[in-house]
Amino acid sequence: MTSITTPDAPTNPLTSRHVAVIGGGAAGLAVARELVREGHRVVVFERGDQVGGTWVYNSKVESDQLGLDPSRAVVHSSLYESLRTNLPREIMGFRDFPFVAREDDQYRDPRRFPSHREVLMYLKEFAKEFGIEKLVRFETEVVYVGMVKSNGNFNKWKVRSKKRSGDEIDEFFDAVVVCAGHYTEPRVAEIPGIQAWPGKQIHSHSYRIPEPFRDQVVVLIGSSASGGDISRDLVGVAKEVHVASRTIADEKIGKDPGYDNMWLHSMIKSVHRDGSVIFHDGSVVFADVILHCTGYKYHFPFLETNGTVTVDDNRVGPLYKHVFPPNLAPWLSFVGVPMKSEYGDWLAVQSGCPSFEEWRKQMLIAVAKRHIHQPDTYRDQWDDEDLIIQAHQDFIKYFPNKVNK
Ligand SMILES: Cc1cc2nc3c(=O)[nH]c(=O)nc-3n(C[C@H](O)[C@H](O)[C@H](O)COP(=O)(O)OP(=O)(O)OC[C@H]3O[C@@H](n4cnc5c(N)ncnc54)[C@H](O)[C@@H]3O)c2cc1C
Repeated sequence: MTSITTPDAPTNPLTSRHVAVIGGGAAGLAVARELVREGHRVVVFERGDQVGGTWVYNSKVESDQLGLDPSRAVVHSSLYESLRTNLPREIMGFRDFPFVAREDDQYRDPRRFPSHREVLMYLKEFAKEFGIEKLVRFETEVVYVGMVKSNGNFNKWKVRSKKRSGDEIDEFFDAVVVCAGHYTEPRVAEIPGIQAWPGKQIHSHSYRIPEPFRDQVVVLIGSSASGGDISRDLVGVAKEVHVASRTIADEKIGKDPGYDNMWLHSMIKSVHRDGSVIFHDGSVVFADVILHCTGYKYHFPFLETNGTVTVDDNRVGPLYKHVFPPNLAPWLSFVGVPMKSEYGDWLAVQSGCPSFEEWRKQMLIAVAKRHIHQPDTYRDQWDDEDLIIQAHQDFIKYFPNKVNK
């Protein structure tokens, strides 16, 4: 590992630093707000034309719908048109800016698990409320971040950014916070025989609406959040939907009793030139499409740290508590890396914030259970009213005029 000398961490918390935040999604907006609150000078680089990141739905898809071609023009968002949140809005909101239903506005979606548009509107409201949009350089992609020498030490970051016009500029920052998201670069299942298989393959990153799959036989790999949603989206139009899952219990293999045209399988064993897909459970299907709902890879193509931070086996490291590379802290950090939130309490306390509210933790457990036991209805039928009441009692503290009491 390269040894890098960085300036000492600021002892005076009011030392104002020049900080580049890469990404104007939920993470970048929150980071920008906190940095400004501490008196730092912040530039948020955002390659899109609005804040919201993942929640900016884009009906366009990439030229390579499997996402393997490194030269393809990247579409950031992986949202599909029908997407509703998989968490209740009470959990998703920032603590001091609750994500409450806006019954007074006909363009808002008051549901507890609203559509993706509602999340985008909420994030835009957050950005406006805290004056963050004025810090954002839109349509400006960061193409390179690397440490440079200053006074003999490596103590500044060079950030090269590119406008949509193609113009590039280099600037120097004391610190960089990477908030670039990690649901854009597809991870694809390895399938024996796939080179000769004649059907079409796509990744859920490029799935938008079910119509292109009308009357087709679709094999969908994966049964997590997107896989579950997309399989239910497809059953209405596809001829057959076959879900291949690593985690399926033996007794569930076979026809899904809830649908006329959906079957559940173990993983794919192999695929063949004649179009057949053979599953480990022994069943065989002749399919038109394989749809990979197999998740995403961490990808920071702009970052050059001379090997100090690497992405290996889809892990970013070394990162102390998923945020700071020890050798470069606090001058480089990552926000939004963990897929799970078990250590959120620790992080909150370290940052001088109160730990997660008890209702938030209990609600997360309740929704996880409902997701398993009532996957078709968990967004519209619940029995955690008591937790909603507790949440709203908290919200009133922060947002007295907008909370339904
Ligand atoms: C299909 C799907 C459904 C989801 N559903 C939920 C849900 O129901 N509830 C929930 O809480 N979470 C959900 N999530 C997780 C969601 O990603 C997070 O809620 C959150 O939006 C992540 O925010 P972020 O800021 O870390 O990343 P993003 O929202 O991805 O934002 C990253 C931003 O960085 C910008 N960017 C990237 N690279 C560069 C660059 N080089 N230069 C400049 N800008 C750059 C991008 O344009 C983007 O605006 C879902 C994710 C997906 C993909």
